[in-house]
Amino acid sequence: MPKAIDELGKTYGRLIVVERVPSAAGRGAVWRARCKCGRERAVLGTLLRAGLVTSCGCALSRGATRRESKEQRDPVLLVMQERDELRRLVESLRDQLKKATT
Ligand SMILES: [Zn+2]
Repeated sequence: MPKAIDELGKTYGRLIVVERVPSAAGRGAVWRARCKCGRERAVLGTLLRAGLVTSCGCALSRGATRRESKEQRDPVLLVMQERDELRRLVESLRDQLKKATT
């Protein structure tokens, strides 16, 4: 039996993988992931790794309401903003770690 790729603790877009979900044999690993908005969903590991699922669906609904907004959201810009957020988070964690160890 092939070993599932360990996705625990990994982040994909807005999702953080929190648990392995038992799935039918041959269907691939299914994971429970918690979205930034607080909701959880089960998702196939292959979809996560392919970048096809990056939220519980809230990111999509945000895109669906785009017509109501005058400002058009550039998906590339959104990704860059998220990366920026992540970088700041990592930097602040690094700072905290430095303070804790010195
Ligand atoms: Zn969400």
